[in-house]
Amino acid sequence: MTLTILGSGAALPIGARRCSAQALNIGGFKLLIDCAEGTQDRIRYNHLRLQTLGTIIISHLHGDHFFGLPGLLSTMHLCGRTDPVTIVAPRGARQVIETTFELTGNHIGFDIEWHELDFDQGMQRILENRRCTVDAFPIVHSVPTYGFRITEANRAAGRERTYVYCCDTAYTDDLLPYISGADLLCLECTFANELADLARDRQHLTAGQAGRLAALAGARQLLLTHISARYREPEVLIEQASAEFENVVMAADNMRLEIGSNPQSQECQPKKNEAQQPDC
Ligand SMILES: [Zn+2]
Ligand SMILES: [Zn+2]
Repeated sequence: MTLTILGSGAALPIGARRCSAQALNIGGFKLLIDCAEGTQDRIRYNHLRLQTLGTIIISHLHGDHFFGLPGLLSTMHLCGRTDPVTIVAPRGARQVIETTFELTGNHIGFDIEWHELDFDQGMQRILENRRCTVDAFPIVHSVPTYGFRITEANRAAGRERTYVYCCDTAYTDDLLPYISGADLLCLECTFANELADLARDRQHLTAGQAGRLAALAGARQLLLTHISARYREPEVLIEQASAEFENVVMAADNMRLEIGSNPQSQECQPKKNEAQQPDC
């Protein structure tokens, strides 16, 4: 399971951090998780071919997780895609996308298989194939928002690796049954501990709360993401999360991680003359 961070910032795409998007490769099955503005650029930069992405899962419809989707679908069409795309997203996403394309006179020349999420408790299986299972669970935010628990279906390995993505959410112990025992637990970490009141008001996590959740959930490794643009140097967030949980990694755009191995990562380098390459 290889995870590529396409965007690790919160709300504003500023500096080195674009907004939320990740690509997960599970034995060749490729999954896009969230799709903020500019995600298609980050996909190209990381040499992940657009047309090999067949499944997109969206946590919620805030722009910093969703506004890249119309552009991504349009580019897939312009590059000649005919294979269908599966999109899993909270209820309303389909109307937004279909209305956008209808009113702007744009067209998508491939089928979209929609799976809209509309439940507020428990966990629902949203995808199952020979590579993995994906379950969605509701989390606590200002609009309907879902976390995702992705488990590798590799029984020959004797142990199935699990990745959990949980962004954006307020702190609650109610998350624990859904996020427990993850090999890699990705939690949002919008604010430092000093801004706990702001985190509560805006229904986000502080660094300390993210660390505490990882410890209570028995995770093997914690990945911090959704970093506020106010933290140009995120060491304080790592320190505060590490005070609660020992195995912390800070996400950075274009970082690549092997889930289940030691916390090693590498940054992808762009190809030469990348702008001239129609990498679809
Ligand atoms: Zn967000
Ligand atoms: Zn949000």
